[in-house]
Amino acid sequence: MGPEQKRGWMTEKRAPEQHGPQARAVAPGLRYCAARRNPMNDRRIRQIAILGGGTAGWMAAAGLSKSLDGMGVQIRLIESPHIGSVGVGEATIPPIMDFIRQLGIAEDDLVRDVKATYKLGIGYRDWTRAGHFYFHPFGPTGPGIGSIPFQAYWLKMFLAGNAAPLEDYSIQAVAATEGRFTRPVHAPNTPLNKIAYALHFDASSFARYLRGFSQAQGVQRIEGEVRSVSIHPQNGFVESVTLESGESIAADLFVDCTGFRGLLIEEALGTGYEDWSHWLPCDRAIVVHSEPAAAPAPYTLVTARDAGWQWRIPLQGRNGNGYVYSSAFIANDSAERTLLTNLEGSSLGAPVKLRFTPGRRRKAWSRNVVALGLAAGFLEPLEATGIYLIQRGIAMLLRFFPDRDFATADIERYNRVLELEFNRVRDFLLMHYTHTERSGAFWDHCRSIPLTDTLLEKIELFRSHGRILREDAELFPVMSWLSVMVGQNIIPRRYDPMVDSLEPNKIQSRLDELRRDIKRCVDSMPSHLDFIRSRQARAT
Ligand SMILES: Cc1cc2nc3c(=O)[nH]c(=O)nc-3n(C[C@H](O)[C@H](O)[C@H](O)COP(=O)(O)OP(=O)(O)OC[C@H]3O[C@@H](n4cnc5c(N)ncnc54)[C@H](O)[C@@H]3O)c2cc1C
Repeated sequence: MGPEQKRGWMTEKRAPEQHGPQARAVAPGLRYCAARRNPMNDRRIRQIAILGGGTAGWMAAAGLSKSLDGMGVQIRLIESPHIGSVGVGEATIPPIMDFIRQLGIAEDDLVRDVKATYKLGIGYRDWTRAGHFYFHPFGPTGPGIGSIPFQAYWLKMFLAGNAAPLEDYSIQAVAATEGRFTRPVHAPNTPLNKIAYALHFDASSFARYLRGFSQAQGVQRIEGEVRSVSIHPQNGFVESVTLESGESIAADLFVDCTGFRGLLIEEALGTGYEDWSHWLPCDRAIVVHSEPAAAPAPYTLVTARDAGWQWRIPLQGRNGNGYVYSSAFIANDSAERTLLTNLEGSSLGAPVKLRFTPGRRRKAWSRNVVALGLAAGFLEPLEATGIYLIQRGIAMLLRFFPDRDFATADIERYNRVLELEFNRVRDFLLMHYTHTERSGAFWDHCRSIPLTDTLLEKIELFRSHGRILREDAELFPVMSWLSVMVGQNIIPRRYDPMVDSLEPNKIQSRLDELRRDIKRCVDSMPSHLDFIRSRQARAT
């Protein structure tokens, strides 16, 4: 396989810019040929240093080493055994499966190694109000009828009291709540074709797995703590970092994966951080593992609490749990008690306390430093978007891969794309908090948080005629917005008038048929646990 083919990792469906001028600007193969013709013009990046060996660091090492293979770039990763990583980040969303496939990793092998389970979406318990449950499934909505999308005709029947709950029309939601799972199977014109899924995994094992992968790709791991940073006096670029051993490591490009502190992007370059606490109310988490009380469910369970929410993430052999809360509304000790008294099995080990400021680094890429992971920002874990944002950062770095001139246009475009990603995730999260009927000071406060203009427009479009527009490369699909809006009782005043072009009988029989198909397909699926066991039996 030549370098061009291997660079398939860069190819991603969601990117409209892919065929634009930027695509040419980042075609490293072209630069390589030009440089060989004229060595004087060789401005290629020769050395990359990644700081930090958490999930972000090792994802970057894996992605960059795979994509830059054959280009003569030396990649080194520095990690300190004395500075821990956050060690959380156990739930993912479907794009992670592309990351794994594009690296060429065998899914069954990974699942076994990182004790993963499958995830079909998120169940929200007591979120809208006490005693209520709704499901946010992965995957698309049901099929349209002609040019009328599913959500439009379902809504007409729903408003008239003639349609089942939305969940009944999603194979992911039905399978998840029945504890069943299968990967998509080739069964044309059935919902089995399009099952969308992600993974729950042990975060430290995932980083370790990627470490093995990256080292096999030639990434050099350096153990040590970075103590100082040397900056070029004229251009302000990072020239090198020095470890506690005195060893100095120079590079052309630095990738800052040092977690919340942002050792290069913030401590050395002072890039600045946008604090989004006025939108996202939670700033603390307490995390603990527990014995599983039942077979692993193929979804993340989120339960609303008085000052935030609690997650349950089932892995093979244990559950991950955490209480994410606002320190303005509950003391740390009370939050810990709440978490421990609401575990399904006994706790394993002592709880770990984490604090964060929701927000983002003003520039994820500054000079010759690109920040990824917590160093680039963190919103909060409700919709499990942290790892996705790392993945997106790596993909965009490859799209706008620099040479040693670090063109301003590339850097600015990268920062704009990432800013847009953060903004969209923020809007989706914000909607979860602002639209509930829960009582209590924390939830009253959440309802008073002002919406962003972009979210306000989204909600107003939905309220007027049930319309949901997915803007160009937006992460969350129509089904995500639809299920959270309907689940949280944001109900349109009217349905889309275009639906009246369809015979109500035709709509009714399509909805009935869809539900029947989904039920039949789910009945044919193995239980989630049986699926995991059968794949592992085959893999060993
Ligand atoms: C409570 C909580 C729950 C979360 N849940 C999810 C989730 O379910 N799904 C999801 O996608 N994301 C989640 N996230 C986000 C996710 O955990 C992170 O995006 C991910 O773990 C990446 O972390 P990181 O690698 O950026 O930082 P860290 O894990 O903090 O790693 C930092 C690394 O930098 C190294 N380092 C620091 N300083 C130095 C130094 N001076 N010298 C050398 N090395 C140094 C450390 O040793 C460490 O290896 C969650 C985050 C939190 C806080």
